[in-house]
Order: sequence, then C-alpha cells, then structure tokens
Amino acid sequence: MDSLLYIVIPCYNEEQVIKETVHRLSLKLNQMTEKKLIDPLSKILLVNDGSRDRTWPIIQELYKTNQYITGINLSRNRGHQNALLAGLMTAKEYADMVISMDADLQDDIEVVDEFVREYQKGADIVYGVRSSRKKDSFFKKNTAQVFYKFMEKMGVEIVYNHADYRLMSKRALDALEKYEEVNLFLRGIIPLIGYKTAVVSYERKERFAGQSKYPLGKMLSFAIDGITSCSVKPLRIITTTGLLFSCLSLFYLVYVILYYFLGGYTVDGWVSLVVLICFFGSFQILCIGVVGEYIGKTYSETKKRPRYIIEEELMKEKRI
Ligand code: UDP
Ligand code: MG
Repeated sequence: MDSLLYIVIPCYNEEQVIKETVHRLSLKLNQMTEKKLIDPLSKILLVNDGSRDRTWPIIQELYKTNQYITGINLSRNRGHQNALLAGLMTAKEYADMVISMDADLQDDIEVVDEFVREYQKGADIVYGVRSSRKKDSFFKKNTAQVFYKFMEKMGVEIVYNHADYRLMSKRALDALEKYEEVNLFLRGIIPLIGYKTAVVSYERKERFAGQSKYPLGKMLSFAIDGITSCSVKPLRIITTTGLLFSCLSLFYLVYVILYYFLGGYTVDGWVSLVVLICFFGSFQILCIGVVGEYIGKTYSETKKRPRYIIEEELMKEKRI
C-alpha cells in the first residue's frame, strides 16, 4: 500500500510555536517510519499565510536543517481556509495521503497513527473528532456548541465537533480540487465528496504558546460564511416567515376594519403601531441583509479570482 504522508499546517504569525511543533511532529514521523507505518520520504508542509512576524524565515531555516520540512509562502494573508487549501493542493502532488492540522498542536498528534491505519483499511477521508473540550475556555466551548447546532439547523452537513484535523487520500483531494468555490468552508464541502469515511476521536488540548487567530469577530464571519456558502435554508426561512407575517397581518386587517365599523375608538393603539413599525422595519432590513449575503457570494464566485497565490515553494522531492 502506498503510504507517503504529508502533514499540512497553515501558519499565521506562529513564530512562538512553530519550532516546538516541528520538533514534536518530527519525532512522531520518526516513530511512524520505524514502525513501517509510513514511507520514509513523508514530510511536513508548512504554509506561511502572509505572516507579519518571523514565521517564514523560521520555515526557511527549518527547511535547511530538518529532513522532514517543506514549505510554501503565500503572496499575502488569505485566511485559514485558503491557506489550508493551498497546502492540500500542493501536498497532493507529492503524497498518497495528507493530514491537515493547526500549528498550535491543540489537536492530539498521538492519533495520527490511527488516521493512517484507517486509511490503510480503505478510508479516503478520516475525520478527527473532539471527544471533549475540557481545556477550551468556557466561552469557546459554548460558542462552538451553538455553532455546530446552528449549522445543523441551517442545513449544512458537517461532522459534529470536527474542525480541520483530518486525513484525506490523494483521490479525495483530487475530488476536492473540483470544488472551485471562492467562499471556502472546507468542513461543509468535504462531507459532500463522499467515498469511504472514518472517524477518530481525541481530546482537544490548550494552545501551548501564542494567541488564537480566531477572535469573536472572525469566528462569527466564519459561521456566516459556512452557512451562506453551503446552504440556502436562510432564504427559505425568510420566505416562510414573510408568508406567515402576511397571513397574520391579513387577520389583523380584518380585525381593524371590523373594529372601525363596530364603532371602536380608533385613535387608540399608538404604542402597538410604533412597535409594529419598528419590528417590521428591522425585520425587513435583516431579510434584505441575508439576501444581500447571498448576492455578495454570487458576485465573488462569478469573478473566479484565484483563492491563493504561491510566492515561493520549498519542496524536496519531485511531484508524483
Ligand atoms: N491561520 C492561518 N491564517 C489566518 C488565521 C489562522 O493560517 O488568517 C492558522 C493558524 O496559524 C493556525 C490555524 O489557522 O495554525 C488555526 O488558528 P488558531 O489556532 O488561532 O484557531 P483556534 O484554534 O483558536 O480556533
Ligand atoms: Mg488553535
């Protein structure tokens, strides 16, 4: 069985963690090579996503001194998902299977063996699923929970508690390449590929150094991107709500007319009027906003701009 493994790691301002991460992963690859689980030519591919710190010079240095290290440098910061895609698409030209993970090693690298075993048993995609989030902050744990539940309700097919820690075979990556969307939400697209899949669970740890690159604002926009690029359910909800409110207002209209003819006191009800105006006003703006989100997405998709540009590649082997 072909067993050349590439581990792809997107890095944005990760100067504090990168050396330690590479050290731990190199030991891991050594062990796995000794166990004959992977090909000795297996590598780690570090993707520098336009970092403003010393991340790229460190990668260049590691490339010279560590047999496992390869790297690519993006022309500017393109965000986690695009950087990851750049890495995956580069790695698939060299590897039989590719594992993606974060630079901070919050995801337990001890389960990499299991990933590979599942691949050898025939799985094309192996999802790493967090069994517990004990080490995550209260805020992160709860927002993440809401995120997964909300996604599910909005009709996005994602694997519960799975982030971007996964193994994909070359065949699955070739399939992923056919999804040409600019608004990338890999967690939503990959389950659409199909093939045989497997799940490996692990415990999520704390970041050992540096800071999270996903503050609340970025997390929110990631969630909105996830929904609007994988599902049109929000538009359906708007239509149904619109229909519901039209029916209600029809009833209300009948009531108002009857009230008038039966000699009711009509100046009354100013408060309810103002409340209704405010409510419907803001509700309409919200609906226009949601529709706008989709129009915006369509706009950027039609332009078909490149999702990333690679400025420099540090690769050791030839493409297969
Ligand atoms: N990342 C990236 N580009 C960005 C933001 C983040 O490549 O614009 C990388 C980052 O270096 C890390 C991974 O994406 O390897 C996940 O980021 P982080 O660990 O900060 O997210 P969290 O685990 O807090 O959700
Ligand atoms: Mg992290």
